[in-house]
Amino acid sequence: MKLFSTKQFQFTILILLAMSLNLNAENNIVSVSAIQNDKRIATEKDTSLLETKTPDNIDFSVTIIGSGNPQYNPERTQPSALVQYKGIKFLVDMGNGTMTHLEELGLSGKNSLDALFLTHNHIDHNAEFIPMVHDELMTGREFLIAGPAPIDEMVSYTKKFYKEDLNYRMSGRGKTFDENNTKETVKVLKGGESFEYKGVKISTIEVPHSIKTIAYRFDVDGKSIVITGDLSYTNQLQKLAKDVDVLVIDGKTASNRNGAGTSNQSATSNQRTQSGGQQNAANGSVQAHASIDEIAKMAVECNAKTMVLTHLGTQPVDLDATAKRYADLGFKGKVIVAADFLTITPDGESFMLTKTTTGTSTPQRGQNGANKNSQTSTNQNKSVGQASGQQGNPMDRFDTNGDNKISESEAKGQLKENFSKLDVNHDGFITSDELKKKP
Ligand SMILES: [Zn+2]
Repeated sequence: MKLFSTKQFQFTILILLAMSLNLNAENNIVSVSAIQNDKRIATEKDTSLLETKTPDNIDFSVTIIGSGNPQYNPERTQPSALVQYKGIKFLVDMGNGTMTHLEELGLSGKNSLDALFLTHNHIDHNAEFIPMVHDELMTGREFLIAGPAPIDEMVSYTKKFYKEDLNYRMSGRGKTFDENNTKETVKVLKGGESFEYKGVKISTIEVPHSIKTIAYRFDVDGKSIVITGDLSYTNQLQKLAKDVDVLVIDGKTASNRNGAGTSNQSATSNQRTQSGGQQNAANGSVQAHASIDEIAKMAVECNAKTMVLTHLGTQPVDLDATAKRYADLGFKGKVIVAADFLTITPDGESFMLTKTTTGTSTPQRGQNGANKNSQTSTNQNKSVGQASGQQGNPMDRFDTNGDNKISESEAKGQLKENFSKLDVNHDGFITSDELKKKP
């Protein structure tokens, strides 16, 4: 079984470099550098060097679901970040590729999200907003949707636009959509709000970008994570992110060895960011993203302990040059270059979140989150996962694509063995009517 996608083979993480520096502090520069280089080559080719964990039982963390930007990039999907606190799951942004990655982590269906937050309405950040709201509306759970206007109109229009579809999908569960007891709360944010949801304190500010953009801070048990969304330089970020443990920022990396650093951006946006000011007086255009110097300045002003650079382009990242550049610019915290599935804790530790599903053929995860297809869970977890998988409505358990019927590839165990008997009309699917007739 293939444990990791190719993109995971190519992630690059400064923490390992930092570790090798510490371990070799007494060696001379040459050998430190040699080990660093070995490490970097190793991390790109051998994921076994990095710890992996399942999404369960994580105390408080942020997982980069998508570390890319609007440019097509097979190595990085579009922006999305998952904040988890003891089983509570908040998603910030949902660009193209988000749902696939969440599915791969087993975070869909009954194990879906508690809240959707949008930083801004640029397509690379909200492309999957409508399908995610659509799915959440059928969960029968309580969930929160928050972001800048017109987020409320988007939610009500999604319900209107998909009314027939939602009714059809709910009918397989013996309900109409109107009878579904999902309780969604929609909050239109202007920036400056502060509220609590599911035991997590959430604070917001507006940040400068080419469109109304909200940055979020999540506080719990004295630990904090900030997700900036896209932004140009602002001295107001420190009001939100002062002394933050993890600052996930619209970042840039350096890509040459002396640290002079061309930044990881397309030529157009690079030009824009090098222009320096907030507003280009000549053509009236607004600066959309901060330069590498401005990112460092904000991280220093915030006194962030760990900075995670995300929203990255296709250019190769030079870890040494990136670390050097930010250090030279006065940032003394840890610098982590984001990768899809990379998870960061408030202590600045990072690991890859293990994929728990292998696609649509995987049954729903049990309540405890354990999954029999999980690649790293213990035997104990596996048996619990299997046990919990034996209960409940077969339609909920096996209909992984939500079409209200079970295909032969979705069926497992006894259901698969008896598939042709149960598929009374032999159309290749078991429907809920056919399930009711089952011997
Ligand atoms: Zn944007």
